[in-house]
Amino acid sequence: MSVPDWKEYYEKMKETAPLVIHYPICGGGDECIYVCPFSDKIWEVVPMKVSLFGVRYKVRLRPFMAHPENCRKCYICVQACPTGALRPVENPVKHPAITLIYNTLKLPFKKRYGLKFVFRKEHGERFKRNNWPEKYGVV
Ligand code: SF4
Repeated sequence: MSVPDWKEYYEKMKETAPLVIHYPICGGGDECIYVCPFSDKIWEVVPMKVSLFGVRYKVRLRPFMAHPENCRKCYICVQACPTGALRPVENPVKHPAITLIYNTLKLPFKKRYGLKFVFRKEHGERFKRNNWPEKYGVV
């Protein structure tokens, strides 16, 4: 099976969705999907070739808005994204490294969706499955 590069999914969301994800700085903890009130009607987790924070380009699982028409533009998912990878389409990531560092440093000070949220068990499990899917037999 040939797996698309992350840029294909990025471009698809750019054309069809109110949000975009700069996948090389997405950690793969699925925090966005967990907080979305309509997650089942909007999000899918798909295989794509991408690095993790710039390290080792390979097949990983990442969130994708398969049904953006169901999005209510509440932006709860944007607030919950720990790395800043998920943004409104009109304000995409311009400087990935700076965005990642800024959002990581901000995490301990976030009132909602801070460190405690990111290190919840379910996000840790998704992080492992989504970044090493071959070990879990899901790709
Ligand atoms: S903006 Fe709101 S409705 Fe749309 S995907 Fe994010 S959390 Fe879900």
